[in-house]
Amino acid sequence: MAGVSGSAPAVTVRIVAVGDELLEGRTSDTNSTRIQRALGSHAVAVRDIAVVHDRLGDVAAALDRTRPGDIVFVCGGLGSTGDDITREAIAAWADVALEWRQDVAERLAAEYARRGIVRSLEGDKQPLLPAGCEPVDNPLGTAPGLVGELRGRRVAVLPGVPQELEAMLPGTLAALQRQGALPTARPTRLWRLAQMAELAVAHLTEPVRERYRDLHWSWWLVDWGVDLRLGAGPDRADELEAAAAELDALLDDLVYAREMIDLPRVVQDHMLVRGTTLAVAESCTGGMVGAAITGQDGSSGYFRGGVVSYADRIKVDRAGVDPATLAAHGAVSRPVAEEMAQGVRARFGADYALAVTGIAGPGGGTPDKPVGTTWIALAGSDALVAGRYRFSGDRERNRRLATMAALDMVRRALVGAPIVDADRLTWGVPE
Ligand code: AMP
Ligand code: MG
Repeated sequence: MAGVSGSAPAVTVRIVAVGDELLEGRTSDTNSTRIQRALGSHAVAVRDIAVVHDRLGDVAAALDRTRPGDIVFVCGGLGSTGDDITREAIAAWADVALEWRQDVAERLAAEYARRGIVRSLEGDKQPLLPAGCEPVDNPLGTAPGLVGELRGRRVAVLPGVPQELEAMLPGTLAALQRQGALPTARPTRLWRLAQMAELAVAHLTEPVRERYRDLHWSWWLVDWGVDLRLGAGPDRADELEAAAAELDALLDDLVYAREMIDLPRVVQDHMLVRGTTLAVAESCTGGMVGAAITGQDGSSGYFRGGVVSYADRIKVDRAGVDPATLAAHGAVSRPVAEEMAQGVRARFGADYALAVTGIAGPGGGTPDKPVGTTWIALAGSDALVAGRYRFSGDRERNRRLATMAALDMVRRALVGAPIVDADRLTWGVPE
């Protein structure tokens, strides 16, 4: 997180991530981050995160370091296999029995039947809950989560599979809130910004932050740019509204979403609303733009397809670039990007076509065209636009940034925003 200010939170949250794989370099602990994000707008402070082995003593030792009054999230080790001991560890630490919950068992049996799994519940540990805990439904898997008060702590236990944990967090937080353990969420607003670095967001928003110092400001790097979040205590709702109005005016076309939806989804929504179609010609991104597009359910409603025209010969044969253009300007140039876009647009019969050609690095840069130099073009029926970018990351980051900038170019074109805004977009280079 790049910046935080505002009033001090009250309730202490501690997270215990359980799993041998987390300590053996096989899996990184992303679940803690998911829990922190879900808690974002609640007045709580995450004090520490413990990562421990699937061992009774290690889980107990981590729980011993929590305090009465804390909210404790424990994730991982809830499955039915032998190495999963979280449920037993918690019951032993709290000195309560594991109780067979018939309601959970029946839900499990129904879920197994629905999936065509023939499995007896005999010996299945999943219906066993530490006494005093309530199950939390798992919409994606079988192991339910649980929430309860144990030794004065409010304990919430979630499975390790990140998708399951993510799907169960809203229900878990709702259960904690029903029990009066979790402060209500503060009113918050979100702005999702593409093509901007954290520092650019800091500079741009500084005057507004100066005027509204008592609000809770935070911004952080995410897949498709930077998320800016603004929160307020219940007594400052008017201030939040006023600051939000100023930010709306200031950020304007930089914002691709004001809720938790991703850039590819935003592009898709714009295309579907207009009933237009898109094709792509990719060089340095090697299919990443197409992958981001087709990662969205419903992309077949507008996406025609694309070519990975990596070699010069393929740019000519498959994307319709004139060999003379390549010879005169080089593969990473405005004319080649434009011809790639026009070429695939014609070949795929699409309304729009996007082309990306750049130097991802670390090799291949020249004084003229240093590593990170990327041309992106968008061809439509009556318009052809292109922008030059200078990304400054490693190969992976440059390719990701190019993918983001390409998708954002489509969005900007469709909402009538300037394609390259060198003053506001971090990596755009004026021509
Ligand atoms: P478990 O619920 O402990 O059986 O975990 C199932 C799988 O989820 C593990 O094999 C890991 O791949 C993954 N996993 C468990 N804990 C975490 C975590 N803290 N962060 C990310 N992935 C995890
Ligand atoms: Mg595990």
